[in-house]
Amino acid sequence: MREWEKNIRRVVPYTPGEQPKNKNVIKLNTNENPYPPSPKVLACRERIDDLNLYPDPAISDLVNALATYHGVDPSNVFVGVGSDDVLAMCFLTFFNGDLPIVFPDITYSFYDVWAELYRIQYRTIALDDDFKMLPEDYQVPNGGVVFPNPNAPTGVLMGLDDVRKIIEANRDVIVIVDEAYIDFGGESALPLIDEYDNLIVVRTFSKSRSLAGLRIGYCMANEELIKALNDVKYSFNSYTLSRPAILMGKASVEDDTYFKETCKKVIATREYFENELKRLGFTFPESKTNFVFVSHNKVSAKVIFDKAKENGIILRYFEKPRIDNYLRITIGTDEEMKKLVDFLESIL
Ligand code: PMP
Repeated sequence: MREWEKNIRRVVPYTPGEQPKNKNVIKLNTNENPYPPSPKVLACRERIDDLNLYPDPAISDLVNALATYHGVDPSNVFVGVGSDDVLAMCFLTFFNGDLPIVFPDITYSFYDVWAELYRIQYRTIALDDDFKMLPEDYQVPNGGVVFPNPNAPTGVLMGLDDVRKIIEANRDVIVIVDEAYIDFGGESALPLIDEYDNLIVVRTFSKSRSLAGLRIGYCMANEELIKALNDVKYSFNSYTLSRPAILMGKASVEDDTYFKETCKKVIATREYFENELKRLGFTFPESKTNFVFVSHNKVSAKVIFDKAKENGIILRYFEKPRIDNYLRITIGTDEEMKKLVDFLESIL
């Protein structure tokens, strides 16, 4: 081994879902929104200018718009390049204790990757057989807590009372609630940031705001935590959001009517699809997200996944303990879901 090889930081990276070049497929594998962003966002394309100049490092226009929207102070808002960036910054900033951080055994598969990258010790806590997080399991000594609510890839929502129990039991560490999918029927923990100075609520524009391609995420917490995050951000990369992202992100926040209509459409399609799944004999936990986590006792998930792919329908399959007979299916348009239902009917 050459001497420098010992000094390479070796990590097993996160594997993102496939982004096929072929546009003619039905793409239900990465929980994107099937609808375009608000027309007001698209209209911003005419106003993109000053690209020779750096963007505002404080991202003030978007921070202020988000603060107004959520009824918090701008000092409570931190914006990053997708919630992946925000979460990674949170891990780097807040998870520096001696005890392992904790998160569910079945959850967003980036958490262990960041923990490994930053050399943070971690321990996973098993979901119960119904894929539920039990708050009492989180009453253990730890160096921090992170979980999505609703959880991914299960789609299961935890009630606010249980979220509160977890925060209450962990007042000495930072608790991060990753609300990537909260707009599809969940109750947010945001009102709790006034009560708990150790709580961070993370959101994204990638799902409910149809802006996965623009890369915007944010979190809200008390001023001291946001200041700590900004200090780390400015020690890493000052200009995180581009000018177009700031402009379009603000336009998205300001078009609440479009946002709410789009969420409603996705929820209605999810309800239609869940009924069809039941009719076809699939089992799945109730979803409060823009995806459903399904299993069938007659045909294996892997077989369905492969056959769907041959038929131009891309789903998400995780070859992992406890979930290797499940498929995560993103809610597309009504038309896409009808085609998927026809396909499922044909192979069962
Ligand atoms: N959290 C969860 C639970 C997710 O599923 C995702 C999407 N992969 C993210 C965070 C990151 O989303 P983004 O970086 O697009 O905001």
